[in-house]
Amino acid sequence: MESNLLFDIKPNKHGVYEVDRDAKERSDARVLRIVHISDTHNKHREYAPHIPGGDVLVHSGDFSNFNFFRKWFKEIDYRYELKALDKFFGSLPHKHKIFVAGNHDLNLEKHTSQEIRNNVKNFTYLQDDWIEIEGLKFYGSPWTASRSSSRADAFTEPIEELDSKWSKLPDDIDVLVTHMPPLGIRDKEYIYRGRFKTMSFDPCKFCESRAHPLSVHYFGSKGLLDALKRIRPKIHVFGHVHGTNGVTRLKHNQDGTANTFCSNASMEGHPTPVVYDLFY
Ligand SMILES: [Zn+2]
Ligand SMILES: [Zn+2]
Repeated sequence: MESNLLFDIKPNKHGVYEVDRDAKERSDARVLRIVHISDTHNKHREYAPHIPGGDVLVHSGDFSNFNFFRKWFKEIDYRYELKALDKFFGSLPHKHKIFVAGNHDLNLEKHTSQEIRNNVKNFTYLQDDWIEIEGLKFYGSPWTASRSSSRADAFTEPIEELDSKWSKLPDDIDVLVTHMPPLGIRDKEYIYRGRFKTMSFDPCKFCESRAHPLSVHYFGSKGLLDALKRIRPKIHVFGHVHGTNGVTRLKHNQDGTANTFCSNASMEGHPTPVVYDLFY
């Protein structure tokens, strides 16, 4: 990814990212406050009091966490997760609430959006479909790349097979919600020696450090980045990769008049929701 097209940005003094300042200048400008969270991994009750209010709350997946019980008791788990999601969203004040699943939301994938929507009342579930809110199109897609080392494999396929899904995303999306990041944008994870041994890392044989990243892995999708450049949504929200939270502006042209604000709002290890004022 060309770095001269990417800019890490900070919020204003109120902790808000303003999107499309040109639109803000217009006398008939409308504004929608969007709050983005992701990857709450069963800690939603702990985070709820710290989620700011707004017009739209978007959760971009991994509400739950993998465990074997959930693989064995699929239908019980499906109902339990819907109940927990509905209770969580019902406890929050936002007028519109959207949820897109992640790879840890194990038992939602056998059900259609319509079935899930019929069983909940406090949020809109998006699974490769969209909803219009205040004249803006929000599109949600839960797919991520499969990994042989991970059993948290809901909505996963080999990364090259996801491209056909991204190429079908419609052209007129204002806010794109995926669980997966686009390649090169807040998708970086360091691979540590012995990372699965939580207590004692083997020391690096060169520098003897016990917390020494062996390599860097980029989890994002090139096909999704290509789709982003084609669609040019105002905002793209995602999660999945923990620890790379924040907002990056992707510039689509040299004069900077076409941009997509991209956020990773994974709450795991860094519980900071991203708040946008979207002017249009
Ligand atoms: Zn996660
Ligand atoms: Zn994930």
